[in-house]
Amino acid sequence: MPRLSEVLTALDALWPPERAESWDAVGTVCGDPDAEVDRVLFAVDPVGEIAEEAVRTGAQLLVTHHPLYLRGTTTVAATTAKGRLVHQLIKNGIALHVAHTNADTADPGVSDALAGALDLRVLRPLVPDAGDPEGRRGLGRVCELAHPLSAREFAALAARRLPATAQGIRLAGDPEAPVRTVAVSGGSGDSLFGAVAAAGVDAFLTADLRHHPASEFAADHAHRPLALLDAAHWATEWPWCELAAAQLDEISDRNGWGLRVHVSKTVTDPWTAHAASHGAAYEAAPDPAGAPN
Ligand SMILES: [Zn+2]
Repeated sequence: MPRLSEVLTALDALWPPERAESWDAVGTVCGDPDAEVDRVLFAVDPVGEIAEEAVRTGAQLLVTHHPLYLRGTTTVAATTAKGRLVHQLIKNGIALHVAHTNADTADPGVSDALAGALDLRVLRPLVPDAGDPEGRRGLGRVCELAHPLSAREFAALAARRLPATAQGIRLAGDPEAPVRTVAVSGGSGDSLFGAVAAAGVDAFLTADLRHHPASEFAADHAHRPLALLDAAHWATEWPWCELAAAQLDEISDRNGWGLRVHVSKTVTDPWTAHAASHGAAYEAAPDPAGAPN
């Protein structure tokens, strides 16, 4: 059975902490480096349900994508939700390790897993990492579809392949526009609009899109419209858990560690229900580019 320190060394080789953004908080949150590890659980969010699942499954290591504490704290008292989680993990001998923006830009990383879930062929990073001479690491991925689909069909594909959430997939743009090339970025993607426009793709699949950025992006690119697909943040990052678990499984086999690696299927998307609107219907604004029909 490997020690926690050996497993963490392997995880740091997959997602070197120094490649995380400067504002990020990655690495080990709690855990005794000398403790033995037999079971590992991967999840997107370090929240109460996931800590309970780690206890239930007998894991000694929980690896999450999102940090527990992104900013400094002066307390881990069990009177706060995060403090309670720290207590629960330590009481049950469970380490917590975070791979966030260092997993986003990794090769393979979060957006490779998202592309893989939709069977997209990855061509290149959307925003290449200047420190990678091979040009494979970076934020987001530019991909192509094996067969062109309409934007509506591409949204349906994403809805089918990503784990089910209350939100489903929202589409901005012409639902019948053909989609051959797409940019994908797991998690909040509206900061990447500039790179998406420069990539010349037909669609962008990401999460957390808001009214003003989406509306202004459409207006700015009326001459070459592209479809925006907005999925639940959790759903766009969850495929990475399966990819990461497979990577650790492979390392465990190679080292003869015999680790049992699990992926949490608990939905930690905060949105729990969706009501499709059916109030009075109004006409959509005419297309500013003056498209036919
Ligand atoms: Zn995220």
